[in-house]
Amino acid sequence: MNQDPSRNARLTVVVAAFDEADVLPTLHARIASTLDAMLDDGVEGRVLYVDDGSDDGTWQAMQAIASGDVRVALLRLSRNFGKEAALTAGLDRIEDGAAMILDADGQDPPELIPQFVAKWREGYDDVHGTRTVREGEGWLKRATAHAFYRVMRYLSKTPIPTDTGDFRLLSPRALTALRQLRERHRFMKGLFGWIGFEQASIPYEREARLGGSSKFNFWRLWNFALEGITSFSTAPLRLATYLGVLTALLAFAYAVWIVAKALLWGDAVAGWPTMMAVILFLGGVQLVALGLIGEYLGRLYEESKQRPLYLVDSWRPAPGVSSQQVHSTQGEAHAHRAAIAGGEGT
Ligand code: UDP
Ligand code: MG
Repeated sequence: MNQDPSRNARLTVVVAAFDEADVLPTLHARIASTLDAMLDDGVEGRVLYVDDGSDDGTWQAMQAIASGDVRVALLRLSRNFGKEAALTAGLDRIEDGAAMILDADGQDPPELIPQFVAKWREGYDDVHGTRTVREGEGWLKRATAHAFYRVMRYLSKTPIPTDTGDFRLLSPRALTALRQLRERHRFMKGLFGWIGFEQASIPYEREARLGGSSKFNFWRLWNFALEGITSFSTAPLRLATYLGVLTALLAFAYAVWIVAKALLWGDAVAGWPTMMAVILFLGGVQLVALGLIGEYLGRLYEESKQRPLYLVDSWRPAPGVSSQQVHSTQGEAHAHRAAIAGGEGT
């Protein structure tokens, strides 16, 4: 907690959007008025929208927003890379100040941003919103989400706060730390937890979507959970070993019993059903273990290819900011920049 974000803090709100043309204008109006109100507190707010390869006019909606607000920067990816990559792309573009991550659909209320900033000013590096209520989400989604966080807690050594999504503020040094993690399989909640630093949580009620529909169906959520577990835990691999050892022990005991039985009472050719049962059972166990190894091997393979995490189609810096040269880190030093970058990268 060695930064002093007390004066002239700079904050960039990063919003990843995939097919959110309907909701963006409403959302932007809310963000803009929140940022306006924070100016008096010495917070210079900006917004960065990332179009994650939408094909419903999201990019046009973003351009319309940007032409009416000089604080808005736009980034468009070459195709849909998924929310995690889109967020990474956005965070990579922030030159200084803190980052505030927000969902495009209004489920994370922008009106709460001042609370996040207040915590940041108290010295916290990772201020995350913790959901107390999830509006407009069925019981099944809520129950599976609940179970997921518990399972993760048992399996992973990395602390991952319960019921916490991507709605959060990252201080400059937390942002710098996060940007060093370049793995392809990005389970963001885990990555945030991994970097550590001072954490604070802000309880909030997750509202229903403003419009449109969720991009995360059950299959996608299941894969997301797999991603989380395999990225942050090797416990399943160990489980496979124990399962193997257990079955081998049982099989051995059973073999001893069969041999003893044959020696004592002779072997009247029987046992077809038992044999089938044993063969099928062992075959099943082996396939499960192989599949598990395959999950990890596949991820290792993808990491080894070293592809970039995303590709950019176009980048449009915020006009209100361009005079201050977003691209050069060694450029003219700005007073307020020095004020908040104190803890960065050290
Ligand atoms: N999103 C994205 N790329 C994707 C899927 C989703 O950028 O491939 C964005 C989406 O536009 C939204 C956020 O990620 O801003 C959360 O998505 P969604 O609301 O569909 O998820 P849910 O809130 O249902 O978990
Ligand atoms: Mg949503």
